[in-house]
Amino acid sequence: MNKKYAILVVDMLNDFVTGALGCDRAKAIIQPNKQLIEGARKLGVPIIFCNDSHLKGVDHELKHWGDHAIRGTKGAEVIPELPVLDEDYVILKRRYSSFFQTDLDILLKELGVTSVIITGLHTHMCCRHTAADAYQNNYEVLFAKEATNAFTEEDHLEGLKYAKEVYDAESLTNAELLDLFK
Ligand code: ZN
Repeated sequence: MNKKYAILVVDMLNDFVTGALGCDRAKAIIQPNKQLIEGARKLGVPIIFCNDSHLKGVDHELKHWGDHAIRGTKGAEVIPELPVLDEDYVILKRRYSSFFQTDLDILLKELGVTSVIITGLHTHMCCRHTAADAYQNNYEVLFAKEATNAFTEEDHLEGLKYAKEVYDAESLTNAELLDLFK
């Protein structure tokens, strides 16, 4: 079967990069994401932004992390360096996984996608939970190792290692990924 790829850009939102949960390690992956997204678009690979979009005072996770990516606020918007184009897709999520009670699986099926590339934040949390559901829904999973990150290097590397061991997910450079799409 021919492979068909899609890029899942997880939580590259103002609150995760410069806002409530922002950190320098998140800023460090802006350019790698831009490079990968722009390169993939040119090669016809769908870009799917998977965005936290929490209901204030309602969502379970906010008790643990504090308010972030509250629906309707600037904090919940994709960072301005990664503009969402008309041809891109946006999935709004209220939990770590981009699949949990969202339209992502039906979207991927209708696009004929067989393999997902995970980029964004955080390698060992929302990326990992998204990888779990992708794997369990029979998608091949790849990680963009230059375009994912976490609060610490240790968490990032642990996330990539776990993904390889448990979901058979290779971690590839942007150059390796863009080569695959050709
Ligand atoms: Zn969240």
